[in-house]
Amino acid sequence: MQIHNGELYWPTTYAREEHTNPAIAPFYDVVIVGGGMSGMLTAHALVEEGLKVALLDKRKPGEGSSAANTGILQYSNDIMLHQLMKQIGERDAVRFYQMCYKAIQELEEMAQLLPDQADFIKRPSGYFASKKRDMKKLQKEYEALKQYGFPCEILTEEEVWTKFGVKKAGAIITYEDAEINPYKFVVGLSERLKQQGLHIFENTILNIIEENKDDFTLHTIEGIIKTKRLVYTTGYEKVPFGKVKGANIRRTYAIVTNKIPDLHPWFERALLWETARPYFYLRTTVDNRIIAGGLDEGKAKPPKNPKHLNEKAEQLLNVLKDMLPQHDLEAEFIYGASFGESKDNLPFIGEHPDHRGHYYMLGYGGNGTVYSLIGSRIIADLIMERPNDDAHIVATHRKYGVK
Ligand SMILES: Cc1cc2nc3c(=O)[nH]c(=O)nc-3n(C[C@H](O)[C@H](O)[C@H](O)COP(=O)(O)OP(=O)(O)OC[C@H]3O[C@@H](n4cnc5c(N)ncnc54)[C@H](O)[C@@H]3O)c2cc1C
Repeated sequence: MQIHNGELYWPTTYAREEHTNPAIAPFYDVVIVGGGMSGMLTAHALVEEGLKVALLDKRKPGEGSSAANTGILQYSNDIMLHQLMKQIGERDAVRFYQMCYKAIQELEEMAQLLPDQADFIKRPSGYFASKKRDMKKLQKEYEALKQYGFPCEILTEEEVWTKFGVKKAGAIITYEDAEINPYKFVVGLSERLKQQGLHIFENTILNIIEENKDDFTLHTIEGIIKTKRLVYTTGYEKVPFGKVKGANIRRTYAIVTNKIPDLHPWFERALLWETARPYFYLRTTVDNRIIAGGLDEGKAKPPKNPKHLNEKAEQLLNVLKDMLPQHDLEAEFIYGASFGESKDNLPFIGEHPDHRGHYYMLGYGGNGTVYSLIGSRIIADLIMERPNDDAHIVATHRKYGVK
């Protein structure tokens, strides 16, 4: 399946090292299927545990959805905290938000060890009210976030104008969020993990899984691989085992503009999004471009027709020009990509409810990178048979889970 179409920006920012697949070891403690953000973070967590790990990817690592990812890291989610509290209860909702908050700090620590620190920069987020009536929802959310100690403030229409130069009825500003270059992060991390003993098999699709009494035999183009556990980090593509019940694959669009010499006024170059669904969002890059995305559609496959892609890019550019009329904006990169959401707005992380040894780390939703980090920690605990008090929140046995 084609996971994105058009011209991506991130792969132009990093020249990856040459890679040759290693000789297959007689046995691996864990085989990870998929080398995007989820697969690489899971590999990192498992290599840290001292396990012998192999990672297979049918492409080159980082070339899937992680190369299309616009690199916004937030502790707030598509579902607001006060809404999530209604859905799963106060304790679990607050814990989930706290896990997202902590994940950004952990990603920062990891980025510091990677080339150019993977362009990780702490940024606040501006969560705009798309309509005046959405201010009621934002007020409620602000109170919930404040009550549980999340760093944030609420802005009036005038304050939004002063800080951002845009006309919106109001906004929540959340602090301690961040931007990242997800491609540099994933590819940089893969190069580091290779030196630490991770066996990476590029262009290697997992064809057949044979279940033996105590282990698995995997048939791949590289040869036969033996392991005790499999972790599926296949992103928005079909999982090689089991079925994801609560997943909804859509498609979305993004543009990356020309370099803008002066981005003023743009309060601390905040990451911007809004209350409308689907939402329009934007951020800046280290070389002074603007990335803007949105216009999600019901179909799963990104469009092949360049005309369709250009029309969508023009729509995004027009929204951007309306918002920032002072800049001379052009779309230099335009792409469409598949995008997975879950029905209950939570990722799918954990072991298959009925089949031992098959684990999932599927970070569906706008906060996919943060979910990948959370998932890597949970998967490591499950595999090392350590207790994890939060794994049930995202477990595969829930109503909209994996079967
Ligand atoms: C346009 C866009 C913008 C986004 N913006 C953000 C954002 O700002 N912030 C954020 O947190 N998230 C964002 N996301 C979501 C984010 O991209 C994903 O959550 C995350 O990158 C997914 O990482 P992944 O490793 O799960 O998937 P992928 O990066 O797609 O990795 C999966 C890998 O598995 C491999 N694979 C699949 N099937 C097989 C198989 N059978 N055998 C071998 N290999 C296989 C693929 O080749 C691929 O490399 C965005 C997504 C899109 C599309």
